[in-house]
Amino acid sequence: MSRQKLGQHFLASTKALQRIVKAASTGGSGLAVEIGPGKGALTQYLLPAFERVIAIELDRDLVQFLRDRWSHEPRLEILERNALQVDWEPFGAGVVVGNLPYYVATAIISSFVQKPGLLGPGIFLIQKEVAERITATPGHREYGYLSVECQLLCKTELLFSVPPGAFQPPPQVDSAVIRLTPVTPPADLDVPSFLQFASACFRQKRKTLRNNLISRYDREVLEPFPEMGQRAEQLSVAEFVKLYRALEPRIPPIAERDASASPETSSSPAPGSGTTVGASAEALLTGSGLTGSGEMSSSKIASVGSPAKL
Ligand code: SAM
Repeated sequence: MSRQKLGQHFLASTKALQRIVKAASTGGSGLAVEIGPGKGALTQYLLPAFERVIAIELDRDLVQFLRDRWSHEPRLEILERNALQVDWEPFGAGVVVGNLPYYVATAIISSFVQKPGLLGPGIFLIQKEVAERITATPGHREYGYLSVECQLLCKTELLFSVPPGAFQPPPQVDSAVIRLTPVTPPADLDVPSFLQFASACFRQKRKTLRNNLISRYDREVLEPFPEMGQRAEQLSVAEFVKLYRALEPRIPPIAERDASASPETSSSPAPGSGTTVGASAEALLTGSGLTGSGEMSSSKIASVGSPAKL
């Protein structure tokens, strides 16, 4: 893959780098796992703040650059890996941090949030439009499947914005730093199955829940629920869980579902499907679906999303 496709926009703003490390340092963990260290702009600030840093980089040349730069630093371990194929388990409760390559940012974040109880907080610099989707609350334009997925499993905070000029070379879009702090999902909730349900609810964002769920349930099963006249974007995470629990015993086995149901294009990624998540990442790469919304004051710390109260 070419350098450009690897999303190599190196962060050059000292202020932004220090703010990211400060946000990552609040958890008290001695380990930072950095995704996409590039030439080490963030790594150089992580090393004094953490006892150990594990850096995961896909670009072989950059891996060599980093190994040369820190050849005498035993506290830094550099892994030449694809962050999407990493086994997170050995990292324990370390903080996960990174100026993420935007073409795979949502896929990396999905993989991060779906490890409940395994990892410490995640501090990610990502495309601002994605940060807004992750932290959006019900009733807002940005609220969708990604918000529900992240907010079921994490407390989500949008910390601050980073303008294109802070990078070298500058990206075409605004960026923002988010913090995702894992929370324990309800013990008896089948998370993958719930996420499939949530994905189906958002299948066509402008349609009612009834229209989105009719391919999964009989009409008479759905009718008693007043929510069916609403759109998915109006329901909180807790309301989705409640609805799922009420409908779940009626979900037929996948093999029995009508495979030929509505051929409409899905507007939300199917959970657990690397292919679909990847397709969404491709859309990010091409810059589609950008909101172009206004810049947030860099000093404003907004806690937008909060963990679901279930
Ligand atoms: N952290 C550095 C900085 O802020 O200057 C670089 C950030 S740059 C936006 C993203 C980095 O992620 C690049 O170094 C790129 O090579 C690397 N990268 C891209 N895809 C990756 C993947 N799938 N797994 C791991 N690293 C990846």
